[in-house]
Amino acid sequence: MKADLLDGQGRRLDYLRISLTCACNLRCTYCMPMGWQPSQGEESPMTCEEILALARVFHELGIRKIRLTGGEPLLRGDLLPIVRGLKDLGIEELALTTNGLLLKDLAQPLKDAGLDRVNVSLDTLDPVKYLSITRGGALSKVLEGLEAAKRSGLTPLKINTVLLGGFNEIEVDALMELTHHEALSVRFIELMPMGEALHGIFRFYSAQTILNEHPELQPLPQERGGVASLYRLPGYKGTIGFIDPISCSFCDTCSRLRLSATGKLRLCLHHETGVDLRLALRQGRDLKPLILEAVKHKPKRHQLEEASHSGATMNEIGG
Ligand code: SAM
Ligand code: SF4
Repeated sequence: MKADLLDGQGRRLDYLRISLTCACNLRCTYCMPMGWQPSQGEESPMTCEEILALARVFHELGIRKIRLTGGEPLLRGDLLPIVRGLKDLGIEELALTTNGLLLKDLAQPLKDAGLDRVNVSLDTLDPVKYLSITRGGALSKVLEGLEAAKRSGLTPLKINTVLLGGFNEIEVDALMELTHHEALSVRFIELMPMGEALHGIFRFYSAQTILNEHPELQPLPQERGGVASLYRLPGYKGTIGFIDPISCSFCDTCSRLRLSATGKLRLCLHHETGVDLRLALRQGRDLKPLILEAVKHKPKRHQLEEASHSGATMNEIGG
């Protein structure tokens, strides 16, 4: 039986999101500035060995689920050894969030290396709008990536759509339709007012608006540790999720920790990074007491306002 990692509020933390890089092959307008560069003097991302060494400690403390994110995690040349190494540690659920551009060729190798499933971010089904919101991405590549993920068994497949008022609200029905004949989940995420989204042109468009417009959506039980409220359209195979981060509705049961690409522990998406675990690893310090002390200070609830002032963009935080 594994130990339980508890924070100061008594919440059990069993889910770690690891950012593999801040770099990305897209520049989604609400996420990343066009000319984004790593800050001057920025440290290089953790090596595969550092990631595995830190993940081992977290696993021994009680982490059972890991999600790899970024930036764009598929850009890591050593992604397959990272996935293999994490699975070999005994991580029960190993997932990855990607923009899907490089997924076509990587889906099967990732599955073979031990990845369980993927979430693919997709904000529009219109190739011209996709090109514009991502500043240059090809929708066809993402669709090929989705097909490859299904073929390779990286399932249940989830599609993440950020709700962008003035951009994709007219596509909500078409996106929900993707769940008609396939057992996938389309999850609508409210835009968080942080990083690039603060300067953007998009109106806030709430999950509640969609729920009001679709009374036929049938509520389903929530997944354990999940952040989405789940629904199904009558007779549809897949599910529809709504993630409303602003309302703090999932802070009370938050089970997450985050590790930045340079090895800093982040206790909440909306707070500054904390203890530098890679530095501690390099110094040969005992990491367990450091982590146990740090998690005591995980905030009870997020304060989106603070994150707004931290200047961090979402590609740096890891979504
Ligand atoms: N590059 C990968 C991708 O796009 O899936 C992984 C990293 S990306 C930062 C993770 C998720 O954060 C994406 O689904 C993206 O749409 C979402 N995201 C970025 N900025 C956001 C914001 N301001 N509010 C809500 N979601 C945001
Ligand atoms: Fe890159 Fe993902 Fe941010 Fe888009 S949302 S710019 S794909 S990190």
